Amino acid sequence: FARRLHKTVRKLLPDCEIRFVRSEDGSGKGAAMVTAVAYRLAAQHKARQKILEPLKLSHEQLLEVKERMKIEMEKGLGKETHAEATVKMLPTYVCSTPDGTEKGDFLALDLGGTNFRVLLVRVRNGMRRGVEMHNKIYSIPLEIMQGTGEELFDHIVHCISDFLEYMGMKGVSLPLGFTFSFPCQQNNLDEGILLKWTKGFKATGCEGEDVVGLLKEAIHRREEFDLDVVAVVNDTVGTMMTCGYEDPYCEVGLIIGTGTNACYMEEMRNVELVEGDEGRMCINMEWGAFGDNGCLDDFRTEFDLAVDDLSLNPGKQRFEKMISGMYLGEIVRNILMDFTKRGLLFRGRISERLKTRGIFETKFLSQIESDCLALLQVRSILQHLGLESTCDDSIIVKEVCTVVARRAAQLCGAGMAAVVDKIRENRGLDFLKITVGVDGTLYKLHPHFSNVMHETVKQLSPKCEVTFLQSEDGSGKGAALITAVACRIRDAGQR
Ligand code: ADP
Ligand code: MG
Repeated sequence: FARRLHKTVRKLLPDCEIRFVRSEDGSGKGAAMVTAVAYRLAAQHKARQKILEPLKLSHEQLLEVKERMKIEMEKGLGKETHAEATVKMLPTYVCSTPDGTEKGDFLALDLGGTNFRVLLVRVRNGMRRGVEMHNKIYSIPLEIMQGTGEELFDHIVHCISDFLEYMGMKGVSLPLGFTFSFPCQQNNLDEGILLKWTKGFKATGCEGEDVVGLLKEAIHRREEFDLDVVAVVNDTVGTMMTCGYEDPYCEVGLIIGTGTNACYMEEMRNVELVEGDEGRMCINMEWGAFGDNGCLDDFRTEFDLAVDDLSLNPGKQRFEKMISGMYLGEIVRNILMDFTKRGLLFRGRISERLKTRGIFETKFLSQIESDCLALLQVRSILQHLGLESTCDDSIIVKEVCTVVARRAAQLCGAGMAAVVDKIRENRGLDFLKITVGVDGTLYKLHPHFSNVMHETVKQLSPKCEVTFLQSEDGSGKGAALITAVACRIRDAGQR
């Protein structure tokens, strides 16, 4: 019987290699085996949940983050406390959002994002109200990013010259807005003293200097054209202005890309670093540094510490390192390594690939979490990373990605809740309707980040109705709009 059975089955399935093994006491031993496997799986599941637990934040914990953000914001704004404050709350000298009457041609520079760009922006008012842009991307070679300041600014001016020629506008002098997305101390709209380089820039002789001065000197060295530098702009402010051009309720800007940062319109009476009590000014929060004084340490996990330790700037930008695109993939990789070391994943085998820093890019988090992706495709993403996985492994990896991205979005939402509630309280309102302009690839492309963040803001600041508006090219268009608003106000003053 057995022989015939085997033969028939093999004949019917020529593509399969089938072995028949005789069981000894299947019902007794089998029951024990089933129990043992279920037991092991349950124990492993429990072990993993225990490790992930500190990454799951409760409503109370998030309220606490919101509260602490508010305290740090006040420290940054206060005259006495500003020097030690970690959330720097930098005045930007941008005091009004566009009103639609702006017009003219403007040049804009965008330095500090993924690319360096030069732009020509045409702003129209009246019936043909709108913004038209032409831009060209230039690379900044590593040796220039990390060379001398003179070389960096000579290179920038060389690119401007090339762009003017490309546009057939050689010799034309236009007002210029400079999007410079690094922390700057401003004492004027057209001045920005670089506090410290971030994002891989290292050019010498720039920290502590006014970047507009450095740009002007380079323009003079070239002796080819002159430019009227009107504004130094942070990319958050550019984002707020771009969305403000479409929606007058937009008084907050938010970036969630390589890094994260936010800005908003604060009452002048609260901006103690700047004279005057009338009206409002946009504040560049530099909120990525939230937590650098240790105030978030009870929320940071061993994985956050590991990522921080091996980063370019250990101990700095602690809030940013829990949220933004440059770090989420690394947090996931560290958790997967820990699971594997404990035998809870990949059958306990740590591959060389898994040990490699940076292999788990944040875009994989988006791919793995995308709802239409079946587990088989998650497996193929892991395979592409050189990680041999079972179906169970893919489920686990997906869960880790979900937990890490969810925490990031919730933390970001808690920070945002602090901002909008502060604006509401500033104005003595029971209810505030406000729009936040948002830019950044993580926010735009991750399948759940934006929803989780919106939901968190709603829960943590129930007295605010917050609309999120995606910005299109905030750093280019925004710089031009800020320049346009400044020119409008300047021209009105001269008349
Ligand atoms: P920047 O912040 O440099 O101005 P972006 O807003 O485009 O530029 O953000 C780039 C960052 O977004 C990358 O460093 C990467 O971490 C992250 N990123 C890229 N693609 C994706 C994606 N598909 N999903 C989530 N994050 C992504
Ligand atoms: Mg950007």
